[in-house]
Amino acid sequence: MSHMEIREFQEMMKRLYYKRDSERGIDGTFNWLVDEVHELGAELKGSDREATEKEFADVIAWLASLANIMGIDLEQATLNKYNHKCPKCQSSPCACTF
Ligand SMILES: [Zn+2]
Repeated sequence: MSHMEIREFQEMMKRLYYKRDSERGIDGTFNWLVDEVHELGAELKGSDREATEKEFADVIAWLASLANIMGIDLEQATLNKYNHKCPKCQSSPCACTF
C-alpha cells in the first residue's frame, strides 16, 4: 500500500496493537510516546536519514496507539482543529507573528 489516510492508519494500529495497548493503559502508552519523541530528537542530531524516518514512524504509531485507547479519532481531531487554516489567525499560510 502506498497511500493511507490518517483514519486507516489508526485502524491498522488498532488491529495490530489494541489489546496490548489497552492492557498497558494510558499512562504507560503515553510514556512510550514520550520515549519515542526523545529518540526522534536524538536522531535529528545525527545524519542517518533512514533511522530518522523510522523514529518519525514510531512517534506517529505511538500517538495512534494512545488515541486508540482514549477513543479519539485522530483524523477528526486534527481536521477539527486544523481545517486548512491556522486555528489562531484563520489564515493559510499562517500569518501569526511569533
Ligand atoms: Zn496563524
